[in-house]
Amino acid sequence: MAASSRSLAFWQRVAPRVPFCARERTRTCASVSRLQSSPLSGIHSRSTPIANAVLVKTQCRYKSSSVGSTSSAPVETEDNVLRVGRVKIPNIWLRDNCQCSTCFHADTKQRLHDTFQIPHNLRIRSSESDGKTTAIEWSDGHRSRYDHSVLRQAAAPFKERAIIRQGLAEEPVYWGSEIASSPPKVPHDAPNAMRKILENIRNYGFTYITNVPFHSPTPTEEILTSIAGFLRLTHYGGFYVFTSDLASADTAYTNIALEAHTDTTYFSEPAGLQAFHLLSHTDGEGGASLLVDGFKCALDLKSQDPEAYRILSEVNVHAHASGNKGISIQPFRGFPVFSHDPATGQLLQVRWNSSDRAGIELPIAETPKWYAAARKYNALLKKKRNEYWEQLTPGNILLFDNWRVLHGRSAFTGKRTICGAYVSRDDWVSRWKIERWGDEAAGRAIAAS
Ligand SMILES: [Zn+2]
Repeated sequence: MAASSRSLAFWQRVAPRVPFCARERTRTCASVSRLQSSPLSGIHSRSTPIANAVLVKTQCRYKSSSVGSTSSAPVETEDNVLRVGRVKIPNIWLRDNCQCSTCFHADTKQRLHDTFQIPHNLRIRSSESDGKTTAIEWSDGHRSRYDHSVLRQAAAPFKERAIIRQGLAEEPVYWGSEIASSPPKVPHDAPNAMRKILENIRNYGFTYITNVPFHSPTPTEEILTSIAGFLRLTHYGGFYVFTSDLASADTAYTNIALEAHTDTTYFSEPAGLQAFHLLSHTDGEGGASLLVDGFKCALDLKSQDPEAYRILSEVNVHAHASGNKGISIQPFRGFPVFSHDPATGQLLQVRWNSSDRAGIELPIAETPKWYAAARKYNALLKKKRNEYWEQLTPGNILLFDNWRVLHGRSAFTGKRTICGAYVSRDDWVSRWKIERWGDEAAGRAIAAS
């Protein structure tokens, strides 16, 4: 099983049994009108101890198991209870997360023991701390040793625990048209280029990769493939090289202007990274690229109209890809325009593609509420101060986070050759986590995140 899905499944198992603080809503007329009449009712909106890790604060389904930061909290054991600061760590959790070689495979980072063979009434027989680790002898005779940094992370608020798990931006920059004066760039052959590329993606949502040879598409394909070791395949293929030529029959579909949108809303998991490299443009002009920071506009909407933000965060929308013969793709469920981490309330994904939109998951008579909210977000996306326009040039790959940044382009004439590809979200975030925190820290964080 992939590490990322394993860590999520693991997190779900160890999440404290605290009742949901946001009532599950069914999509009835009554619930929608209640939703409209009482913004933020029944939903916690909390500040975070690590302010710069927050993308967009919205709603949280769980109460945190801890109070405040635990980064330097003492680890103490007394009367059959281990505590980090004031947070009690249950014996079943400790024993289930024993890191000894019988219980845990150091190389694969996988659990080896049978969780359900652990006695339900397991007790601490004795314990000893050396200041950095605590050794425990259990009532069933098993011996464990726990690194205090792991215990502190296990006791930390969800927002702290999410940073490495999700590879969150530590210094996010929300931008508008002014980014044109100094867009993030990394020469592809710079030292530590991959780390800088992905750091830009995390902080800005996009980057240019410069100094890329453009005599053929191959160097671009190699650079994009090197992010995760492979590219995302879709029904269109993987790496593509696309030439639009006025002489060809499909011109009408290939040189028209495209409004800012995110790609592949019709997949259960939309493409993570997307890349464009303009290899050549001859006998014509136009075709400037448009980028819009979807998170920045979401923040603007949230401050201007919390109710509209909430509707776009709660009402699921369906999408489809049906234009190719033999293809009828739809996500396994509807998703809202704004998707958040249910544990932390952080905005993680914007889905915005009016062309591919299918049903709105509201009783049909209620759909004007969604349209009204979407109209407000659309107006923000189209404000001049939020639009970053750039003419792509050969030698520079534009790489962006399709879960955050919307893209479009102006109409153009002439013959353009563009190449590009997708990289899935889990795969590029995995590479980023390793580049940023290293294998060991990323692996150590899994049990407690
Ligand atoms: Zn063990």
